[in-house]
Amino acid sequence: MKERVIELNHIIKTYGNVKAVDGISFQVYQGEVIGIIGANGAGKSTTLEIMMGLRKPDSGYVKVLDMDIKDASDEIKQKIGIQLQQTALYDRIKVKEALELFRSYYDKKRDLKEIIDTLGLEPYLNKYVKNLSGGWQQRTSLALALVNDPEIIFLDEPTTGLDPQARLELWACINKYRAEGKTIILSTHYMDEAQRHCDRIAIIKKGKLVSCDKPKRLIDSLGNREGTLEDVYLQYAVEL
Ligand code: ATP
Repeated sequence: MKERVIELNHIIKTYGNVKAVDGISFQVYQGEVIGIIGANGAGKSTTLEIMMGLRKPDSGYVKVLDMDIKDASDEIKQKIGIQLQQTALYDRIKVKEALELFRSYYDKKRDLKEIIDTLGLEPYLNKYVKNLSGGWQQRTSLALALVNDPEIIFLDEPTTGLDPQARLELWACINKYRAEGKTIILSTHYMDEAQRHCDRIAIIKKGKLVSCDKPKRLIDSLGNREGTLEDVYLQYAVEL
């Protein structure tokens, strides 16, 4: 039995009268790749950010690597890697500077050259991050999520806006770290990616976890032999 690395227990988060997360519980096991899917505004980013310790739930608890995020957020932050959708950090910083800055925040450090080589960042090190194309910005932000050699990597829509080749290349990088046994939790709007790369898919609809299972089991549950995860999405995640 694989070790449980994340436990969410009945998480609720409201903003005014919006229930962004409405009683979500689920668990993630070491080495899994979990995809979180759901419509815009369903609560994916809020759920991810609560797991990362960036937002506090109103109620419920989150344990990461067996530590309660309420009591041990600094220790947990040392052991996780975070890639957010957009960051303002990049305005006046070069790729190499960003990598060195992020690396300085952590006790444990992964070999920077290895990360740069894996992500092909060498030719871009002296360029301003804001001047890179979307694909290279995403690679840079993935590199930043890896500098502390995290046990768990959180990726909020890592491939959104990338062209098909850039998406494939980014997945090749993500899969390299997966092969090392890292646990990876990501949100995505691309059902083809989720179906191909994720061990389990968490479907969120209006702040609730509708289902969390292997892509094949979700597809089989539709009773349609030719079904895809897109059909699952339409069935479970959308208000028709
Ligand atoms: P998307 O796919 O568009 O990124 P999402 O599933 O990640 O959406 P969230 O960003 O988690 O959804 O938002 C869930 C709900 O909470 C939405 O109704 C959103 O408007 C609201 N919300 C999120 N953050 C805030 C905030 N800081 N203040 C007020 N409302 C918020």
